[in-house]
Amino acid sequence: MKRPFVTLDQLRSMTEQYPTPFHLYDEKGIRENARRLKQAFAWNPGFKEYFAVKATPNPAILKILREEGCGADCSSLTELMMSDRSGFTGPEIMFSSNDTPAEDFKLAAQLGATINLDDFTHIDFLKETIGYIPETISCRFNPGGTFTIGESTEGFQVMDTPGDSKYGFTREQLFAGFKKLKAMGAKRFGIHAFLASNTLSNEYYPTLAGILFQLAVELEQETGCDICFINLSGGVGIPYKPDQPANDIAAIGEGVRQQFEKILVPAGMGDVAIYTELGRFMLGPNGCLVTKVLHFKHTYKEYVGVDACAANLMRPAMYGAYHHITVMGKEDAPCDHKYDVTGGLCENNDKFAVDRMLPEVEIGDLLVIHDSGAHGFSMGYNYNGKLRSAEVLLQEDGSTRLIRRAETPEDYFATLIFD
Ligand SMILES: *Cc1c(COP(=O)(O)O)cnc(C)c1O
Repeated sequence: MKRPFVTLDQLRSMTEQYPTPFHLYDEKGIRENARRLKQAFAWNPGFKEYFAVKATPNPAILKILREEGCGADCSSLTELMMSDRSGFTGPEIMFSSNDTPAEDFKLAAQLGATINLDDFTHIDFLKETIGYIPETISCRFNPGGTFTIGESTEGFQVMDTPGDSKYGFTREQLFAGFKKLKAMGAKRFGIHAFLASNTLSNEYYPTLAGILFQLAVELEQETGCDICFINLSGGVGIPYKPDQPANDIAAIGEGVRQQFEKILVPAGMGDVAIYTELGRFMLGPNGCLVTKVLHFKHTYKEYVGVDACAANLMRPAMYGAYHHITVMGKEDAPCDHKYDVTGGLCENNDKFAVDRMLPEVEIGDLLVIHDSGAHGFSMGYNYNGKLRSAEVLLQEDGSTRLIRRAETPEDYFATLIFD
């Protein structure tokens, strides 16, 4: 059973201050989770999580994570600017982009970020753009083919098709790229790969680590490059559905340690640092979308119309993703009514839930849409002229703080040219 991290009483006093809809984040949950991750990898002295800024681009969130020892993983110019302005410096910033504009590489280099190249041709492009090859450099690997763990019958199979994904170097390109980078002055090397998204399996990271550790040994032996860090990237998932088991980050850290002891240590590479670039795992469950019921409609189905829409949380409309919904104050009431919970976009897929069993919903009820803390607000858009909502932080002492105001019509019109 999924419980919100906030009570109805707390929400009632918040809605007096902040009009719905808004995204709410749980500082306590964010800190506790970051500490569990750090603990799980404490066996590796160089370990660092570079939080994927795109998941929740907000300086207040970034500062909390920085206080917990995290760096920032950026993929665009504005993410680099935000990380800089949030206090991250030099190697606390990882720049993992693709199809990268020159100005992005320039800023990344200027900030002293660690650059993670997505393609062989970016080696020359980077050199032409910034005039040199940084001494510390990373390359993204794509093994191609398909990537599978577990049996589909278990229900928690991980399957993805790196061969269809646009990211990374092939194996041959990686070997050639490392030699080329070394010849151009690089001294410290890293490798990175992202093979599957939102995985619910304690085996994903250890399996990926096994592949990357083996590759690192071969790369170092063949190219003589000094591999200093291995970046396991993102992809550790969260249980969006109440019946799904959560990942056990301690078990994941231990699984990676075993691969490290088995593969890297015997090769004399026991000083390699492990990096992660998690987004969803860090923030997903620690944020929710708070919305109010505006209308009830009965036609061929029963519709609950709320004041949030897909412009605030796109995942259900875009991927048919499940987000659990709690009707606040009715947490323990029987779920004996079937509803579609809709937003107001002129798109029939603007539904937070389809045929969802909920307690009887009344106009004015507050709904919590769970697990919107990552890839929630950040995927928002302005379709239908909808304005982006506010973001609010529930602080450790129980007080709240506005960390992004809601957009106003003036914001929406600011880029238009009327004449
Ligand atoms: C999106 C992304 C991440 C974070 O992914 P999650 O699924 O949120 O963990 C990490 N690294 C890169 C390069 C990404 O693009």
